[in-house]
Amino acid sequence: MTTADLDARPRTAGAFSPEDARRDVPVLHRTVNGRPLVWLDNGATTQKPRQVIEALAAYYAGANSNIHRGAHTMAREATEAYEAGRAAVARFLGAPSPETVCFVRGTTEAINLVAQSWGRANLGPGDEILVGALEHHSNIVPWQLVARETRARLVPVPLLADGSIDRRAFEGLLSYRTRLVAISHASNTLGTVPPVREMTALAHRYGARVLVDGAQAVAHFPVDVGELDADFYAFSGHKLYGPTGIGALYGKPEVLAAMPPWQGGGNMIEQVDFTGSSYAPVPHCFEAGTGNIAGVVGLHAAIDWLTSFGRAEVAAYEESLLEYAQQALASVPGLEVLGSAPGKIAVLTFTLAGSDPGEVAQWLDRDGIAIRAGHHCAQPSLRHYGLDSAARASLALYNTPEEVDRLTDSLLRLRRSAG
Ligand code: PLP
Repeated sequence: MTTADLDARPRTAGAFSPEDARRDVPVLHRTVNGRPLVWLDNGATTQKPRQVIEALAAYYAGANSNIHRGAHTMAREATEAYEAGRAAVARFLGAPSPETVCFVRGTTEAINLVAQSWGRANLGPGDEILVGALEHHSNIVPWQLVARETRARLVPVPLLADGSIDRRAFEGLLSYRTRLVAISHASNTLGTVPPVREMTALAHRYGARVLVDGAQAVAHFPVDVGELDADFYAFSGHKLYGPTGIGALYGKPEVLAAMPPWQGGGNMIEQVDFTGSSYAPVPHCFEAGTGNIAGVVGLHAAIDWLTSFGRAEVAAYEESLLEYAQQALASVPGLEVLGSAPGKIAVLTFTLAGSDPGEVAQWLDRDGIAIRAGHHCAQPSLRHYGLDSAARASLALYNTPEEVDRLTDSLLRLRRSAG
């Protein structure tokens, strides 16, 4: 079978066509090594629409100022833009108010904020932090650091063979020692979408807090933190078609209100004296120093861009593209995809018999196709399959079946050349 034989090519789903998105993203129209670029490294970072690029340029060209200080017009304008970005993130996440959103550098910083602020204040000897075995290192290492300090314990939540969470094991691990459950809303290696709402409800029965790592989720499907009932939700702008260096942490109002600041400096204080300082209200007390103001403007533009397409249509398109890609890759002899949990996002981590993942990525790069190879900062998830390294193609709304064909054809040629 060749990929051209495959039926049900997902060209459009409902009102959404990937061409609508591609038109807006300039870098997708460049060549790499003499071939039109095929960007399949969206799990690492997404490409940016001109709406985001133009918003950044317009901010610096016409509106740059520091915020929350200075009684002048541009400071006021920059402050308004920054706070409008906060309101946009709150709406995007279904958060009850903008004050529940803290700006951070990205998911990693958001999780470190919770670990260092909430964790140091709430964890003690013998307490347990349940962490999914599919987590990114940024949802493992910050907990290890605070666990060492507080003598709490990290407990991995095991996976089933298809890469889904072992729900029964999870239930069995929960106890009144559990203080926190840290879980991804979508895995960056296996694509698994854990049953976060159900897990949160179970964790809450024991009084545990739940942090959801939404880094890989937010670009793929709509999120409603109210419905999830999550205590914390973290994501990065750059995986959502926005700029690098900006992300957000949502926290339930009562949880944030009880947390001490984690970094001190300007912008996060009310009064400073050598005898002591008082802090600005939430969320400003978690935003010490000058923030990434342009990044917030760009993130706002990215949210507007993504939500200008029907989210349900985009999700349906990505689902059909994933199905198409799974069928296409099944035609490559010796290729095995890791993770087949129902409802997974469009992430295809794979091994190819006889080829090192690094060689696979280099081969594809010669054809202008960008994928990732290595441990994907989620080593425990690969070890679940007895691996240290794998190749990964991660799809986004602007990817097309033709691009999947180019990936498949290139891999078939690699197989043939390897004999
Ligand atoms: N969590 C997951 C699931 C990820 O995939 C990533 C990045 O790949 C991160 C966290 C870390 O994101 P960032 O590097 O933007 O902080």
